[in-house]
Amino acid sequence: MTNLLELRNVSKVYTRGLTHSNPTIALRETSLTLKDDEPTILTVAGESGSGKTTLAMLLLGFIDPTVGEILYKGRNIRSLTGSERMAYRREVQAVFQDPFAVFNPFYTVDHLLTVPIRRFKLAKSKTEARDRMEEALTAVGLRPEDVLGRFPHQLSGGQRQRINVARALLLRPRLLIADEPVSMVDASLRANILETLRNLQRDYGVSIIYITHDLTTAYHIAKSIVVLYRGGVMEAGDVDSVIKSPQHPYTQLLVDSIPWPNLDQRWGEHAIIARESGLHDPGACPFMPRCPKAMDICRNRPPLFQITPHQAAACYLHDKLPSVDAERLSELLPA
Ligand code: SF4
Repeated sequence: MTNLLELRNVSKVYTRGLTHSNPTIALRETSLTLKDDEPTILTVAGESGSGKTTLAMLLLGFIDPTVGEILYKGRNIRSLTGSERMAYRREVQAVFQDPFAVFNPFYTVDHLLTVPIRRFKLAKSKTEARDRMEEALTAVGLRPEDVLGRFPHQLSGGQRQRINVARALLLRPRLLIADEPVSMVDASLRANILETLRNLQRDYGVSIIYITHDLTTAYHIAKSIVVLYRGGVMEAGDVDSVIKSPQHPYTQLLVDSIPWPNLDQRWGEHAIIARESGLHDPGACPFMPRCPKAMDICRNRPPLFQITPHQAAACYLHDKLPSVDAERLSELLPA
């Protein structure tokens, strides 16, 4: 069985100027697999600068890996033929943070939705195009008569973001990259949009990579999670275990920074107090400058240690446990 998506040992390094000085590793040796026959929602979580947006850009083909390869349905996305590239562009869609950015204020919603229909020749007539628009809008919980014919300023932020999701859905995607899709939407509308994304996975078989800094939304939408810090995987596993019982000091810090109204865990339970950031040694644990539990051994980058069959953390606090080959990370993640 071919995988839908495969990242094989992917790194992205940015350098400056002609001399390629001061390399910055935005993403380090990351391997992930999404199966073709098991649509899933995977959260990639981390703060700003963790590498999660670099990952989104790589998956969308906007930038190339420095090392490693990204395969879509078994084909390296850098060497797709013209028709394969067109299919990839249609089947891998994105929803970004800012629901305002994709709207031209001078065009109605109909125009925004008609463009992809024309570009990918999805309808043979105006009636069929209209039917597809209405079907996609209904699928994301909008009433077509409420939004068609309207201009962006006549819609709420929540409606605009749902229209973005509908626009992606029109193309019958196999994979949706949702990069902070609810962070600029009113808190009262977030749950609705997350529910819409979950429906896409359940009813339309769309796999979703949900990228966020917000673990509360991750908990409500995904089954599995990968926590990134400075471009490296710090912890990964099933979302329930990782968020309710985080095993990496960085994940504990993230969890402790948020009040949790719906979980058994009490806010502040782990009492992790981050130290001031210091100089970062590229060969050391990336979290070492902030880690209150740092030890001498942490001057070497830790591998992932397997805590349970569905949880692993890259931290020497668990070095009595077996290590996990980073290329087998996806085996820890429930579908
Ligand atoms: Fe902290 Fe060391 Fe674990 Fe890194 S490996 S998170 S520095 S205890």
